[in-house]
Amino acid sequence: MPATPAENIRLRSALDALPAYVPGKPAADDGVRRFKVSSNESPFEPLPQVVEAVNRATLHANLYPDMGALDLREAIADHHSTSRRAVGPENIALSTGSVAVSGDLVRALVDPGDEVVFAWRSFEAYPILVRSHGGVDVQVPLTPAFEHDLPAMAEAITERTRLVILCTPNNPTGPALTTAQIEDFLARVPDHVVVALDEAYREFVDPVRLADTARLFAEHGNVVLLRTFSKMQGIAGLRVGYAVAHPRLAAALGQVTVPFGASSIAQAAALATFEPDAAAELEHRAAWIREQRGRLEQVLAAQGWELPVSQGNFVYFPLGERSAEFAAFADARGLVVRAYGTDGVRVTVGEREANDLLLSIAQEWREAQEG
Ligand SMILES: *Cc1c(COP(=O)(O)O)cnc(C)c1O
Repeated sequence: MPATPAENIRLRSALDALPAYVPGKPAADDGVRRFKVSSNESPFEPLPQVVEAVNRATLHANLYPDMGALDLREAIADHHSTSRRAVGPENIALSTGSVAVSGDLVRALVDPGDEVVFAWRSFEAYPILVRSHGGVDVQVPLTPAFEHDLPAMAEAITERTRLVILCTPNNPTGPALTTAQIEDFLARVPDHVVVALDEAYREFVDPVRLADTARLFAEHGNVVLLRTFSKMQGIAGLRVGYAVAHPRLAAALGQVTVPFGASSIAQAAALATFEPDAAAELEHRAAWIREQRGRLEQVLAAQGWELPVSQGNFVYFPLGERSAEFAAFADARGLVVRAYGTDGVRVTVGEREANDLLLSIAQEWREAQEG
């Protein structure tokens, strides 16, 4: 015990009410071979171009990264530019994953007591980010189809609202919003309220269903897009994500973000994902995930499951009170899944073997219910 006890430190009272971020469970080390499909990670190893870029960047790890991360921000801006609409580096704000960028948004917009509206159940980081920065989270229940209830979310906006987060596709339930749905919603939001579209899973959306969020961004000064390199690009362990925002907001994000957040290694890796061969291979991998998701949904439906239509790299079983039981059932059979209290269970689309195992577990569960 130190002479001055740490018990006397005055922690912020907000911490008492903070839900813990529960990471996807690691696979237990008890001899059973398990697949970890609890964190929406990519089942693919990093691309060789990424590994090479990381190795090269490591040689200069004694140096701080480029503070402005200009090369990467330019590459990201090019990626978001079309012949009709230019996006420049002044539109890009980076940090250590898009979770961190979401936190930057809260810090840039929310004074103590200001409100942030989002759907629930959605990404479990949102309440933590909002409350830990002194904001008030306003959670609007999903519809019975596990989709955002946009009319109710519009109703929930008050004088104190500074930010609305739409998670599309929604983690953990899967449905994605259409361009028209978002556009109708934006028409009901005062223009001083920022609307963040968290598109962490955008690359897994069926191409015919992709919302034209680039146009919505271009037309609405209060729209910001949140993107990550963790999911489709598969470098979750390196921690890099970004916002596409109008310059005034992008600059504000730059003011509040951790200096030198995205490491030089993360920046180099992210940059490598834009090399044409790398980008083509990533697109190929995303198409494979979409195809596997389609296969899972088809077989699960034939087994009698009624699941929300997922546009992410995961499927959601709305098992209610039986969620924990299903998770234990799957775990005992070699599949580590993610249970959300008494709401449901999310399972990541993984390697083929993991997906096959999910199908056999899901079938066995149903037979046990019927038997
Ligand atoms: C995984 C995920 C992110 C991305 O997190 P990173 O911090 O970039 O790894 C953001 N939003 C949602 C909804 C996610 O599921």
